[in-house]
Amino acid sequence: MCKDFQNFSKKYQFSQDVINLFWEKYGERTEKIIQALKQPSKNYAIRVNTLKVTSEKVIEILQEMNIQAEIHPELDEVVLLPVKGPFSVPEYEKKVVVDKFTAESLIQGADLFAPGVLRASKIRLGDMVTIIDKTGECIAAGKAMMTAREMLQLKKGLAVKILYSRYKIFSIRESQLFKKGYIFDQSFPSILVSKILDPQPYEFVLDLCAAPGGKATHIAQIMRNKGCIIAIDRSKPRIKRIKEHILRLGIKNLQVFHGDSRNLPEKYHHCADKILLDPPCSALGVRPKLQVFTTKRDIINLVRYQRQFLEAVANYIKPNGILVYCTCTLTTEENEENIKFLVDNFNCEIIEQSFFYGYPGEKIENLPNWQKLQRFYPDIHDTPGYFIAKLRFRL
Ligand code: SAH
Repeated sequence: MCKDFQNFSKKYQFSQDVINLFWEKYGERTEKIIQALKQPSKNYAIRVNTLKVTSEKVIEILQEMNIQAEIHPELDEVVLLPVKGPFSVPEYEKKVVVDKFTAESLIQGADLFAPGVLRASKIRLGDMVTIIDKTGECIAAGKAMMTAREMLQLKKGLAVKILYSRYKIFSIRESQLFKKGYIFDQSFPSILVSKILDPQPYEFVLDLCAAPGGKATHIAQIMRNKGCIIAIDRSKPRIKRIKEHILRLGIKNLQVFHGDSRNLPEKYHHCADKILLDPPCSALGVRPKLQVFTTKRDIINLVRYQRQFLEAVANYIKPNGILVYCTCTLTTEENEENIKFLVDNFNCEIIEQSFFYGYPGEKIENLPNWQKLQRFYPDIHDTPGYFIAKLRFRL
């Protein structure tokens, strides 16, 4: 068995620890899950900014650009764009090696910018090059817009214009739709999170891990620019990105602060009607994934960190306040077991989610209402792997 796992781990470039974790829970299904994770979803979701435009108008604009898209059958503020591929990628003699995160965006047709380059040599402006990741896997190919030396030295700028990639999606971020603030590219389960929070225009909402602001700006949109949302994040560069989105999307009820949301000042104690907690997680549900290096120790450390936010939530929430907790990962430790930690230690209960299109959470002993937790599985739902919990604090 152990030997098989080693082959499995090599074949898919997933750490042995993650394979073991999946195997314990999913058994034979593990391979299907990993195969799904290695590919993008068949449809790419975008959220329509209903403060500025309707989904019908977005579809119309896309049609004028010859891009077929459709409104999501369950949620009309979501537009789905087809992901094309897999295509074969030409292998040129000259290669550029990129890091894992860059490879995961290039595989869907994004251009290569200088900071993603790890290795390049003897490349001249205009050369055709193939992009590979550290393991030598072919990701994409295109035309060099810099020399090898510039690729390695410059901290910004277009390094390779991608002409061939394994998968292709419409380049959202460069589109007028994006620039005019009509859309935000977000996965379907992540769009559901703010809907499930159900913020009301007169409420006070805290988003404790907010950057780059996908969910926070959606909350602002649902509140129709009324009420007050405080968005906190510990990363300054990522805070800058929320601020750019706020301007782009025309948001007026969202204030952004840089800080550690585990230790907010006294003035935030027992004041939030609703809290969103989307903490750092092992992100094992995010796709497409080329390699996974996560270890068991990483997961243990993440759980410890996530619980520090959960403990803090109890200080910030009002009596009868609502918490929505979500992750883009598949481990029970970061999902159901964290919710059990909350229910065991604080006066709160799992409640129903009014938008439920996934599967129930995983059953764990002595956790009442576990069926009201929601999960999305990459091999079943054509989405990233995702977990959403909604709780009411009685206090
Ligand atoms: N909710 C966001 C994604 C959040 S990703 C969205 O929908 O766009 C997790 C975020 O947690 C990261 O931006 C990270 O910078 C932030 N973070 C990590 N530790 C933190 C801390 N102690 N306090 C506040 N934010 C933190």
